[in-house]
Amino acid sequence: MRKKIIAGNWKMFKTAPEAVELVEGLKKELAGMNAVDVVVCPPFVHLSKAVEILSGSGIAVGGQNLFWEDSGAFTGEISGTMLTSYGVKYVIIGHSERRQYFGETNETVNKRLRAALKNGLKAIVCVGENLAEREGGKTFDVVQDHVKGSLAGLTKEDMLKVTIAYEPVWAIGTGKTATSAQAQEVHAFIRDILQKMFDKATADATRIQYGGSVKPENAAELMSQKDVDGALVGGACLKADSFTAIVKNSVPNS
Ligand code: PEP
Repeated sequence: MRKKIIAGNWKMFKTAPEAVELVEGLKKELAGMNAVDVVVCPPFVHLSKAVEILSGSGIAVGGQNLFWEDSGAFTGEISGTMLTSYGVKYVIIGHSERRQYFGETNETVNKRLRAALKNGLKAIVCVGENLAEREGGKTFDVVQDHVKGSLAGLTKEDMLKVTIAYEPVWAIGTGKTATSAQAQEVHAFIRDILQKMFDKATADATRIQYGGSVKPENAAELMSQKDVDGALVGGACLKADSFTAIVKNSVPNS
């Protein structure tokens, strides 16, 4: 039985006081919520404060990206060593917005992932097709390419620290959620790829999150699917009450 993992990707939202308000709200609602792993991923500038406020709450903090070198003349970049030095435990890698707007490729995702693992960070690796690819019948090809390319060269031990987020790009921030059947179909496909790349035990142990317009109203249905092990939440994580409701709705009787 895989423990669910619900992560909130704040993207480029929240000023300093707004960030404190949100993190305080989440702490009040979700501290000690042991049935689910909860991760909040604010912009880099808020990480230190988030770690400080959430200390001892059981809620983990994640970055939204990292660079693959530990230090150097790379203006504007943030390294895995820096993230861990602030008590950050997770990092999102290869989000579709990074692939779409910042030239992220499977190769750069793989380099960032190796750097994250080397630094002891847990990684949330995003994969998923865009609308043209879905409509063109290419969903499985694209997802396979993202999974194989992003995870290339990893060991079974490495995979213990990796969560995959299946995020159909057409469902991100659009209000269009994949049906639970569409999500389950691709999640099962990803698990099958993991079995071929690693082995059955690794595939069975790896958590695969769904992302794309997850809301309090659709979380329970999506999370009830056999291969859906959590959610990566964008818009609905920007308010403490909606993110809390998603976390609570993701496990029956919580
Ligand atoms: C995301 O940013 O990963 C995401 C899934 O966004 P939203 O929930 O707003 O669709």
